[in-house]
Formats: sequence, structure tokens, C-alpha cells
Amino acid sequence: MKFSDRDRIADITITEPGKIDAFFTNVPSVEPVTAARKATVQPSVYTKRVLEENAVQNLSVAKIADTIINAAVSERASDIHIEPKENSTIVRFRIDGDLRHAFTLKKNTGVMVISRLKTQAGMDISEKRKPQDGGFATKLGERVFNLRLSTTSTPNGESLVMRLLEPYAKPKKLEELGMSEKQAQTMAAAAARSSGMILVVGATGSGKTTTIYSLLHNIDYKRRSIMSVEDPVEYRMPFVNQQQVNEKAGVTFEALLRASVRQDPDVLFLGEVRDGFSAKMAIDFASTGHLTITTMHTSNATTAIFRLERLGIDRGIMADTVIAVVAQKLIKKLCPNCKKETPISPEEAEMLAPFTSEIPDVVAHPVGCPECRNTGYSGREGVYEVLEFDSHIAEMVRAGEPISRIRAFLRQRGDFLISTHAISKVRDLVFAPADIFEKALAEEETHVAKPAAAPDATVMPDTGRHDDDSGLERPISILLVDDDDDTRKLIRRFLETEGYDVTECADGIDALLCLGKKHVDLVISDINMPNLDGFKLLEMVSQKGVESPVILLTSSTETTYEEKGLGLGAADFLRKPVKREVLSLRVKKALGRARGR
Ligand SMILES: [Zn+2]
Repeated sequence: MKFSDRDRIADITITEPGKIDAFFTNVPSVEPVTAARKATVQPSVYTKRVLEENAVQNLSVAKIADTIINAAVSERASDIHIEPKENSTIVRFRIDGDLRHAFTLKKNTGVMVISRLKTQAGMDISEKRKPQDGGFATKLGERVFNLRLSTTSTPNGESLVMRLLEPYAKPKKLEELGMSEKQAQTMAAAAARSSGMILVVGATGSGKTTTIYSLLHNIDYKRRSIMSVEDPVEYRMPFVNQQQVNEKAGVTFEALLRASVRQDPDVLFLGEVRDGFSAKMAIDFASTGHLTITTMHTSNATTAIFRLERLGIDRGIMADTVIAVVAQKLIKKLCPNCKKETPISPEEAEMLAPFTSEIPDVVAHPVGCPECRNTGYSGREGVYEVLEFDSHIAEMVRAGEPISRIRAFLRQRGDFLISTHAISKVRDLVFAPADIFEKALAEEETHVAKPAAAPDATVMPDTGRHDDDSGLERPISILLVDDDDDTRKLIRRFLETEGYDVTECADGIDALLCLGKKHVDLVISDINMPNLDGFKLLEMVSQKGVESPVILLTSSTETTYEEKGLGLGAADFLRKPVKREVLSLRVKKALGRARGR
């Protein structure tokens, strides 16, 4: 629907109908058009609107900026990205870990919005090339938000990312975050101890800080003094003496840590063990009658032991001092309103089989409804493994047992590992099978596949030799990934006539499973596929250290794909339909390059 075209200053594209209410109802001064808007909205129709003059006057740059923030909050976004493109400016929200398109602004409007936000954050608006950081607080209704801004320059101009933090949000209970009752009890008992170390590990954005805030609320702060060293402080806790690193002002992490230890609090929350120095300070403090809670970047709880060891911490001291290690990941939850239950498919059963003996009969899948804005998902929930240093574990750690042995022991004992916890939530119809694969199973599988793995081993087995022991050359193997049966058949037939050994996979997950089982010399993958697309596959292949080159193949006309694919490390990029001769040459080229390395 189109409004009057005169004097417009803002073009706004609204891609999700649910967003329209969120977009306008929070901005009182544009109410005149709300009614008209509601009446014209159809589900899943891309609507481009030009605001009428009356509304436009009210939609000043400041109002647009506020509106974007309002919409982001009402959609539970963690970050707002404002990105200049060649002829427009795109606003995207990160929701439940995924970036989603929110608005399209006129290019110039975008520039003004960024300037407006930079001004609010006390940043230099004349400087548009050098990266800058800043921040400001804003109040929406009763809620206070801290916005942390950072800018970078792109070929199309300055882009801005804002992180939204709600510093006074009420912390959730550990069970509400997704822990099982038993896990939460173990953690509550750990937090009640007067000395020792609790480690919370996981990737950036896995919710470690949220877990720690929840844990700190379990501590009797009336009787015990709590101090923190954080970089930055994400939530305010009135009962904690919180200290924030400020390197620019000379308040370094190291200096704050030393000062805190001198002040001798009962409980120290150290934002992160980042090096040998902080590891040693943290463990010394924990072993001398204090409770220390801190985080590390490792993928699971057992790996944390090896990371500490590498940072120079003796196994014996670890065994005496560490109380528990919690590892966590966040996984998208199915929308309870529209999820669809179906009997498990053979592929899904095969995917789960290596991790559990109890394959569920029924699983749930995303559908999409107005309540979840047609995404099929609603929020995220944690999956955890809580490695309690009881006498068995402490003894294994002290004895220098390898990671695989400790992990196998936990598995045998029936402790929840991240993989088993995730599968239990598939069984409870909270997660879809495909959604736990990448985050909770793919990594675990490599530990299973490589029992004598070295510390931190997340690399898939590489048997990358073209000659086997007999000295005979085996055929070059190609993994062909495409969800379209016909395309696959066609390319396969062609490649086989060229003498290649071809394995077919119907999507990225399939391909990862296959790559875990066998070595291939080359991967040819489609981009748009269900479950795990070609880009994600590419990312995971390189994360896992698989050295096989990847050629991306697409029928999409999206112009950014080539740049994105090559940026992610693709060896080559081809558009369908592709000529046989061209494919033949490109395959040879990619293989030649890989062998020449
Ligand atoms: Zn839904």
C-alpha cells in the first residue's frame, strides 16, 4: 500500500507483518497511520511503504532511531546492525543468534540515523573511517537499556553495530535457563561452598555471563562479600562490588585483579581466565579460602581441564581446587504454538544414533505462525554439562588421565553431556533434531570418533593421502552436496565419466556426517539447502580443520553470494547451470591447488 509520495524522508520496508505493530505502536506520534496499516497487512507479504506527509514530519531522524531501538527491544534482539549498501541502508536485528532483516532505509536516512546515534553515544561524528566505540543508556517504559555502539567503515560507508544490554533485568533461575533439576542442585551446592573454583565455559554468546549472574544470586550476599572484575559489566548487581576494566584510562585487567585479591572478598567473579597470569591468580585465590567463579572459552567441560593445564596449572592443584565446570550452548527453541510432531525420519534417527541408545519415536519440527513471526522458533534455551569434581573425577584429573578417558567415564556413568542433554530436549519436543546437530552433536562426534584425541581436538580425522598402503593410486573422491535430486544425479553422472568417485549428500548436515566418516578430496556444495546451507557447511568445514577444498554451486542470482562464499574460504564459485567443460576445468583447478599446498 502506498501513501502520498510528497516530501518523504524515509522509505521503510517491513518484511515481517508482526513487526508492523511493534514498529508503530511504540511511537505515539505516528498513531494516525496505525489503523490503516493494521487493516492492510497480510501475513508473509513483503510490504513496502512510503509514509504519508503527516507521519513523515513526525518521523524525524531521532524518531526513526528511537523506533529502531523500540522495535529491537520488542523483538528481543540482542544486537542491531545498521549497514550501508550501494543504494540503501539495511537494518538487521540479531534475534536468537540469527541476523534477520528488519528495515530498509534510504541511504541518506541511514547515514543520518547513524550520526544521531553516535552523537547520543558521545562519539565523534566527523570521523567516519576509523572504528569507534561508545555507548549510552535509554529508558523504555520501566526498563533501562545500555546500548554499546561500535562503528567500522565499509566500501559503502560507515556501518554501526549496537548491542542491547538490560543491566537491571531480574536474573533467571538456573532451571529457567534450561538446566536440569539435578544440574541446578549441583551448581547451587557449589555456589554455597566457601572456597574453590567454579568455571563456566562456552563460546562467545553462549550465555556464560547470564549463568554466572544467576549463580551469584544463589550466594548469601548478606553474609559474604562479593567482588567482580569484568570487561565490561553487563548487568548491575547491587550486592556485588563490580569493577570494570578500562584499558584506555589505564585501569587494566591485571591491575584490577591484583587490587581485588588484595581486598580479600569472600567471593570473586573474574570475567574471564584469559592467560597464564589470570589462571594462576584465580586458582591461587580459590585455593586459599575464597570462592572464585570465572569463565573460559572451551567447547566442553573436559576440555577446560586441558586448557588450564596449558596455562600452567598443575593437575594436582586443579583436582584440589576446582569444584565444578559447567559447559553450555544455546539452542533455538521451537515455537510451542505451531511446532509439528512427526515420527522420526530414518535420517534423523541415524544422526542421533551415535549419541544415544534411546532414539525417540516422535520428534518436533518448526512450522511458523503469527506468534513466532513465521520463524517457527521462540527464544533459545541452554544445554549444559556439569562436570562436578567429585572424588572419581578429581582422582582422574590428578592422575593425568586423557580427556577421552574422563569423557568416556562421564558418558558411561550417565551424566548429562551437552549432546545427551540436547537429545533429551529433542525427546521433550523442545528442540528440532536438525537444530541440535551443528551446536551440540557435531563437535561431540569428533571426540567419539577419535578416542585418543589430544587436548582440544576438534579436528576431524584426516586420512588425506591419495595413495593407500598398497601403493596403488585410489580414485579421487568428491562429495556432492545438493538438495535437488536431479541436479545431483546429473553432476554425479558427469563426474563419474571423468573418473571421480562421487558420494552424494542431500544437505549440509548429511555432508558433515559423511566428512566425519571418510576423507574426500573435494566438496562441491549447493548454497541454498534446508537444515544446514552451503555457507554454514563451509564455516564448519574450516572450523573443523578439514582441508578438502569446497566449490560452491548455486542457481541463486543473489549478487553477494560469490563474495561471501569466497570470503568464507571457498576454493571456487560457480553458477548453475554450469557447462560440463567449465565444471571439469574448475574441479581440476581446485584439486590441483589443494595438492600443490
Ligand atoms: Zn509459531
